[in-house]
Amino acid sequence: MFRSLHMKLVLIMVIVMVSVMAVVGTFLINSVTTYHIDNFLSQMTMVFTPQFISTLQDTEKQAQNPPAELSAVMEAYSGLIGVDEYRAFYILDAQTGRYLAGSDDSLADSLTLTPNILKAMKGEVGEDIERLNEYFDVAVPINVDEGSGYVVGVIDTKQELTDFNWNLFTILIRVILFGIFVAVLLSVFLAKTITTPIERLTDQATRLSEGDFSQPAEIYAQDEIGILTQTFNDMANTLQDNMQTIEDERSKLNTLFTHMADGVIAFDRAGRIMHINPEAEKMLGKTFDDTSVYGDVFPDLVISEDDMAADGKYIEIDYMANKRSLKIFFAPLKTGEVSGGIMAVLHDITQQKRLDDARKEFVANVSHELRTPLTNIKGYSETLIDAQDDIDPETRNNFLGIIYNEADRMTRLVKDLLTLTKLDHDRMEGAEQNVDLRAIIDSVASSMAIEARNQGVVIESDLPSELPRVKGEHDRLQQVVMNIVSNAVKYNVRGGKVGITASAEDGQVCVAVADTGMGIPAEDLPRIFERFYRVDKARSREKGGTGLGLAIAKEIIEFHGGTIDVESREGRGTTVYMRLPVGEQVKADA
Ligand code: ADP
Repeated sequence: MFRSLHMKLVLIMVIVMVSVMAVVGTFLINSVTTYHIDNFLSQMTMVFTPQFISTLQDTEKQAQNPPAELSAVMEAYSGLIGVDEYRAFYILDAQTGRYLAGSDDSLADSLTLTPNILKAMKGEVGEDIERLNEYFDVAVPINVDEGSGYVVGVIDTKQELTDFNWNLFTILIRVILFGIFVAVLLSVFLAKTITTPIERLTDQATRLSEGDFSQPAEIYAQDEIGILTQTFNDMANTLQDNMQTIEDERSKLNTLFTHMADGVIAFDRAGRIMHINPEAEKMLGKTFDDTSVYGDVFPDLVISEDDMAADGKYIEIDYMANKRSLKIFFAPLKTGEVSGGIMAVLHDITQQKRLDDARKEFVANVSHELRTPLTNIKGYSETLIDAQDDIDPETRNNFLGIIYNEADRMTRLVKDLLTLTKLDHDRMEGAEQNVDLRAIIDSVASSMAIEARNQGVVIESDLPSELPRVKGEHDRLQQVVMNIVSNAVKYNVRGGKVGITASAEDGQVCVAVADTGMGIPAEDLPRIFERFYRVDKARSREKGGTGLGLAIAKEIIEFHGGTIDVESREGRGTTVYMRLPVGEQVKADA
């Protein structure tokens, strides 16, 4: 209860008040007592002058009844002595101390022999006053000798002083009570003026701690608390600015973290996930929550912080997850000087690895494709050189024909490779022409006619009279149609047919080349567009194929925004569909 500033202030005020009044009261009562004693003594000094004492002594000597006459003399001075109901004079027998006469006969029973009386009974004036005694008195010896004499004295019961002091005391108590009341009121008011702004500041601080910066604390006065409030508001503004800056940075980091192409996972010391970005979950093919730990993320990958070396270097690990090849960089996370866990950065290298593998396979394929004709050329030419004139002209011609064909195959291979390289680098060069596919199909059909006839195959084309033009590059599209029709002839059977049809629908021109040839086994269908993939290597070679025709066709068609599909039934035939987007139609012939 006394913890609040409010109550403390009240208590302090009351204590101060009571202390001040106690000191003042004591001082007042003390002064009043001293005044009374001094007053009594000065009165007595005025009365008991040496002349008055000698008058008393003379009276005693001459009197018949000394106590009565002494009493009468004293009576005459009673006004000066200040005799009243609290103060009385008395005449005592100096030998026995017995009360003989006086202003108050009740003293006969109540008067005790005070030290002053005893002193006077020995012949000395007794005028010592003890503050704490219940009375003040003086006693004067009158002709005190051995066996005779009287003691004349005055005694004051102090009742007047006591009454006065009591009155003073009650007044003081009332003043103290009133003072306490005023002090309480004052302290309540003072406490309110101090605590109200402090309470407001406390409320404001609570709001700040909850992140509410909307209202500054109100300033009521330019006193110390006003300055404190102003400083507090300034501090809150700075804090708000700093928090905004931190929040902006955090949001930037968060955006970066969420949208970055690499996966990032941070684990705390206990291995729990502190942060994980969507990319990391995508790469690992799983989702994680707050309870997930390192073991859930990388079940079969054990690393320890010690692996990361004392200088905080990262380690690099190749890891397979979710059918992806990942390169993971592990680095220790530091918070201050202490290690705070581990950070893992995941880099998806699946595509890179695939490209790498494809590149290696491609180089191996090219080498292999070039080696075969080279070996043949070298073998036959060596034989021709070694045999010199021993070889008959027919065999020589035959060998030379083989060398020529192999060189021709190599030329085609190199040409196809160059085409592919060009397609890889010069994307859609000159693709702005409007190409007439009808003209291309007619030209390909007629240029393949002799070859087809040699193979015992008939090429039939059935084209609509109006076919929209497509946007693209004439020569490349011609190459595609040539590759497809030449395959349909090459892989056909004697007496077979090649049918070329074309149609326009949904903004596309579709050209279908159907043959009645050997067809393609279902398991090979998905791979026939791969570079160097051939269903029957011997047959392809024999027919002069390079294994690049369909790959080139697919690249070109896709560069033109089109699609190419193959349907085939083994032993029955194959149909290749090419779909190309229709270009802007112009009246004039392109
Ligand atoms: P190639 O130079 O060997 O013809 P392609 O890339 O043109 O290479 O074709 C790949 C393979 O697909 C061919 O080797 C062949 O086995 C098969 N193929 C392509 N077209 C046909 C078709 N019309 N009928 C049967 N097989 C085909």
